[in-house]
Amino acid sequence: MQKEDVSPQGFLPSFQHFATQAIHAGQEPEQWNSKALVPPISLSTTFKQGAPGRHSGFEYSRSGNPTRNCLEKAVATLDGAKYCLAFASGLAATVTITHLLKAGDHIICMDDVYGGTNRYFRQVASEFGLKVSFVDCSKTKLLEAAITPETKLVWIETPSNPVLKMVDIEACAYTVHKQGDIILVVDNTFMSAYFQRPLSLGADICMYSATKYMNGHGDVVMGLVSVNSEDLHKRLRFLQNSLGAVPSPLDCYLCNRGLKTLQIRMDKHFKNGMAVAQFLESNPRVEKVVYPGLPSHPQYELAKRQCTGCPGMVTFYIKGTLQHAEAFLKNLKIFTLAESLGGYESLAELPAIMTHSSVPRSDRDVLGISDTLIRLSVGLEDKKDLLEDLDQALKAA
Ligand SMILES: *Cc1c(COP(=O)(O)O)cnc(C)c1O
Repeated sequence: MQKEDVSPQGFLPSFQHFATQAIHAGQEPEQWNSKALVPPISLSTTFKQGAPGRHSGFEYSRSGNPTRNCLEKAVATLDGAKYCLAFASGLAATVTITHLLKAGDHIICMDDVYGGTNRYFRQVASEFGLKVSFVDCSKTKLLEAAITPETKLVWIETPSNPVLKMVDIEACAYTVHKQGDIILVVDNTFMSAYFQRPLSLGADICMYSATKYMNGHGDVVMGLVSVNSEDLHKRLRFLQNSLGAVPSPLDCYLCNRGLKTLQIRMDKHFKNGMAVAQFLESNPRVEKVVYPGLPSHPQYELAKRQCTGCPGMVTFYIKGTLQHAEAFLKNLKIFTLAESLGGYESLAELPAIMTHSSVPRSDRDVLGISDTLIRLSVGLEDKKDLLEDLDQALKAA
C-alpha cells in the first residue's frame, strides 16, 4: 500500500514569512488612488506629466508600468532580493541578461539545460561573437577548468532539465567568484522561489521562466529576474527598456495572482511528485526513476541541504524501446501529452522528440536523454487518480 503522506523531512525548513509575503508584499492598497486590494490592470501606455519631464514615476509603459511594478516588488521579496525585473518570456529574460556581455566574451553554460537556452546560446548568441562552452557544472573541477580570462557569465540550472541533475550553487559561486568578475546566473524555474533561493547561496542573478511554477496556471508566458546588486539592477533595467521585451499588464496581473497560491501549490506538487516517484520506483515496468526527493537520487544529500522541497518534476526510464515509451504516453488518460511544466495539470512528454529535439543527438546520448526517458510534470490532481493512470498506461505499454 502507498503511504498516505510523504514527509518532506530532512529538507531545509520553509523560508520564514513566505506565505504572508506572497499575499502582501508589493500589494499595498495605498499605492492606488482607489485603495484597491487587488492590483488594477493598468493598460495605459502613457502617463500624464505635471510639467515636461516631471512625472509621477511612470512615463511610458515599456519603461515602467504600475501592474508590472507591483509584480516585480512581490517577486523580489519572495526571492529575498532587492530588485526584480519582469520580461515577456523566460527566453526574453535570458537574452536580456546575455546583453550584459559584449562580443568576444565567453559564456559557460551547464551542459544539461532547457532546450531553448541551449539553442539560444548555441545558434544565436554565438553568431554575435560570444563564445559558449557547455560544461557539466555539477562537477566543480570541470567548471573551474573551463573558466578563461574572457569568461563573463556562468549559467546553471538546478535541478537540470530533464535529467534532474543538482548543482551545488554555493560551490559554484565560490569557484566562479574567486576567478574574478564573472556573473553567476541560476535558472530557478524548476524549484520556484518557494523551494530554493539562489541569491542567498551566492548567485548574482536568479531567473525564472514564470510560465511554469511561478505563475502556475498555464496561461501566461513570462520571465523574471531577481538581483541584489545595485549595479546589475541598473544595467538590467536599462536593457529591459532598451531591448523592450516586457510582459503585458494583463500577464503581470495574472502572474501576481498566481503567486498568492505558490506555497500551497508547491507543497501539493511535492506530495504528488513524491508519491509518483515512489510508485514508479517500485514498478517492475520501470527501469529507473530520477527524483531529487528520493534517497536513490545521487545528489539527495545536496537537495536536502540546498532546497526546502522538490517540485512535481519526475523523470523516469521506461523498460523497453521508443515504442514502449510512445505506447505509454498514448495510453495516459489524466496526464496530458504536452510540452511545458509547472501548471496545475499533470503533463507527460518525451524530451528526445519534443522539448529537447533541438539538442544534438550526440549530446543527448551523453546526457542520458534517451528515447525511453519520460518527463512528468505532476500536477495538483488527486494523487490516487494519478497513480492509477500511470499504472494502467504502464500495463498497456
Ligand atoms: C520554459 C523554460 C525556459 C524558457 O522560458 P519561456 O517562458 O518558455 O521563454 C527556461 N528555462 C527553463 C528551465 C524552462 O523550463
